[in-house]
Amino acid sequence: MSELRDFVADLLESRGAVVEAVEPDGLEVLAPAPVQQAMGWPELARLGFGTERPSGAIPIGLEGDWLDRFGALLAQDGRWSEREVSPAVTVPAPGDPEAVLERALDLPNAVWRFRGMTAAWTRCLMLAFRYTAISDEKREGLVWLGFNLGTGAVVNDIVARLQPVLAQMAEWRTPDQATRLAAGPGWNAATLGARVRPLLDQQVRDAIAPFLGAMRRRLERDRNRVHAYHDDLRSASLKRLATLAHAAGERADADRRRETLRVEAIEREYRAKLDDLRHNYALRITVDWVQSLDLYMPVQRFDILIRRRKGERMIQLDWHPLVKAAELPLCEAGVGRARTRLVCDDKLHLTEPDGQGPCPSCGKPCCRACYPAACPRCGQAFQEPVS
Ligand SMILES: [Zn+2]
Ligand SMILES: [Zn+2]
Repeated sequence: MSELRDFVADLLESRGAVVEAVEPDGLEVLAPAPVQQAMGWPELARLGFGTERPSGAIPIGLEGDWLDRFGALLAQDGRWSEREVSPAVTVPAPGDPEAVLERALDLPNAVWRFRGMTAAWTRCLMLAFRYTAISDEKREGLVWLGFNLGTGAVVNDIVARLQPVLAQMAEWRTPDQATRLAAGPGWNAATLGARVRPLLDQQVRDAIAPFLGAMRRRLERDRNRVHAYHDDLRSASLKRLATLAHAAGERADADRRRETLRVEAIEREYRAKLDDLRHNYALRITVDWVQSLDLYMPVQRFDILIRRRKGERMIQLDWHPLVKAAELPLCEAGVGRARTRLVCDDKLHLTEPDGQGPCPSCGKPCCRACYPAACPRCGQAFQEPVS
């Protein structure tokens, strides 16, 4: 629980409180009036975070509405930030760049040549989104997206490996003017939106897939149960009707009417129960932006020549010293979370394999980076983004 204690101590100090650690696992807080009001504490409060608390301490935990109150105190702070990070000790550039590229690149229909490696600065954007999926149960979580604004690559993997590294770096350095210039400009809102949407969509889908799977199994089970129950009732009634089919007389007529009404009632109830299930299991998903972090980082930038048939093109790919890893190659159609890229004939775009796939209408292969909207041969619109 001491991570929570550290967070609360930092937050309260940033809001003007005087905070002192007390054991076991507690804080003594001299809170200014706004903090007292927001948290409902006296001027001098003693907080306890563990199962063992200092005497007279207010128990603070993840339960109850404490997180909401801390959230209110935090307000919009920390939603957007920028940070310059360098390795504590200089990390030498890769000794064998070709071997690095060998692992980073997989170009089944093109060849590549290493052309050079230079120390450079880049800017990586880390974005956090919270998703909430609600049906009969609720699932919440965070997804992180990462883009290298310098090369255009998706750097989710790099970002995931960076997070523990960043958490270990106590010093927070704001990038200076020289670093900003060296790292180059960011993306405009349209570019960012176009890049974020498909990637976010795919990651949220992946994140909730197990939840959806479990939900579908519960729905299936409930539907089968509802069906079996009503089917038994209905079969019994139909059987009684069948035995009454050749009976004559008023009594038999009354029985037939009663059974017919009963069958109708069972069918009605069955439909109503299915509606209930539909309602219970209706799925709502919301995704909200939580945080952006602009990271300015040193990289080793590889220049790579791509050759396909008679065409040639230079691309760049960064190796990140902080995690000693190369990023994935850029991907100009599809989100490109795997490393395989196909190269198109005309412009030598790098795309996901699906990005060069056949048009669903005329079957001719077509580069989705050259023709993102529609097939150039038959005019068929490409509705779904390639993923
Ligand atoms: Zn077509
Ligand atoms: Zn193309």
